[in-house]
Amino acid sequence: MIKAREIAKKVQDGSLKAVDVISASLAKITELNPKINAFLEVFADEALARAKEIDAKEQKGRLAGVPIALKDNILYKGHKASCASKMLQNYTAVYSATVVKRLLAEDAIIIGRTNMDEFAMGSSNENSAFGIVRNPLDYERVPGGSSGGSAAAVASGMASVALGSDTGGSVRQPAAFCGICGVKPTYGLVSRYGLVAFSSSADQIGPLTLDAEDNELILSIIAGPDEQDSTTVPLPFKGIIKISDSDAVEAKPYKKPQEFIVGLPKEFLQDLDPQIKACIMQAKTKLESQGVKFKEISLPYAKYASPCYHILTGSEASSNLARFDGLRYGFASQNSADLEDSYLKNRSAFGPEVKRRIMLGTFSLGSAHAEDYYKKAQKVRAVIRKDFERVFKEVDLILTPTTPHTAFKIGEKQDDILSLYLSDLFTAPANIAGVPSLSVPFGKDDKNLPVGVQIYGNYFEESKIYALAKLLGS
Ligand code: GLN
Repeated sequence: MIKAREIAKKVQDGSLKAVDVISASLAKITELNPKINAFLEVFADEALARAKEIDAKEQKGRLAGVPIALKDNILYKGHKASCASKMLQNYTAVYSATVVKRLLAEDAIIIGRTNMDEFAMGSSNENSAFGIVRNPLDYERVPGGSSGGSAAAVASGMASVALGSDTGGSVRQPAAFCGICGVKPTYGLVSRYGLVAFSSSADQIGPLTLDAEDNELILSIIAGPDEQDSTTVPLPFKGIIKISDSDAVEAKPYKKPQEFIVGLPKEFLQDLDPQIKACIMQAKTKLESQGVKFKEISLPYAKYASPCYHILTGSEASSNLARFDGLRYGFASQNSADLEDSYLKNRSAFGPEVKRRIMLGTFSLGSAHAEDYYKKAQKVRAVIRKDFERVFKEVDLILTPTTPHTAFKIGEKQDDILSLYLSDLFTAPANIAGVPSLSVPFGKDDKNLPVGVQIYGNYFEESKIYALAKLLGS
């Protein structure tokens, strides 16, 4: 698949027809989706009809003709959004997410909805109620999760761009496993209106793309304040670095990327898989050869991000998912004897991982335990945030691995929940602190599987992250 900006440019100048782009994308889907299972539904006729309309337009938008896949937890009016769950199998969105409206306004074409871990809970895409997704680089391996379908769609060339959601790593980890770019924006940069909530204080929508420049382009279009989401930051505001061409944020000149100081957190490199460490060191060397300075830093509390993440997101999920009881939303059994029976039957539509998280969250929030778990995790969150604030006074960016390992075999970690949870070791700190981070592919391991390196930035400094990614050649 060609890059989004190249498609848009050619469709705008008439050297390529949107109809041909969409036909090529649909042909790839017909060929590969039966093997990979990245798409749960393809909007073929509608996408072609829209492509024709766009081809006929005089003035075409910045994403003219770009085929974009949506994770199945992002609402697109009139289309199903199931969160890959039996609970929402028959739910049709009655409105579109703000991000979708912004993409459509630029003449993007939504090509289908992608598979995911149920309700975005997972790291391997093995938790979908509608079958596993295979990694397009090796069908025996997982694509990562929870946005595994989105990552596989882009990596296999079925779509040019996909949107995912990232609560603890669900955009960046699958991006790393599939050899593409994925960002978790600063909390509050992108509207969550129309994203089915998992953990409202950590969820952010982010694009998965073939390279950093496409990523920046898509982010610049979906970012910015939204009156439907009070947690979006009311821009424009001072001191924020401009993202690409967007007028959503105010420009602030900053030093050349070659003058950046990049922190290497020593804790992230301890006990690291030697092959992943080698890729980080090669990335460092490549950046140093262009003038970038490195500094060893310490983020001593980041290691608590993962346990803190599971307490907080489980707690929020137990509350957010309470509405799926068959009375307000979701699967409703037709033969319940009474109210209790109806709860039992309806709530059983959730898969085992979702149930586990709801139970853990309900436990952590209960009056007997809230002081020891939920409230303590909130305190830990504040400490982790302070850790990043301190470090970003000394460095522009931070370089880390995205994941502790490359894509693992399907089924390999099914009996080892803890090790699956630790897939987020290096990504969850960004969601806990609210800072942005991007995963870019850099190097391979001895199985020829891609390695992701991760660039963390200070709040709203996404453009610095992209500048460094471009120096890395992504
Ligand atoms: N892998 C993490 C989890 O299992 C992250 C999920 C996410 O970011 N949505 O919760």
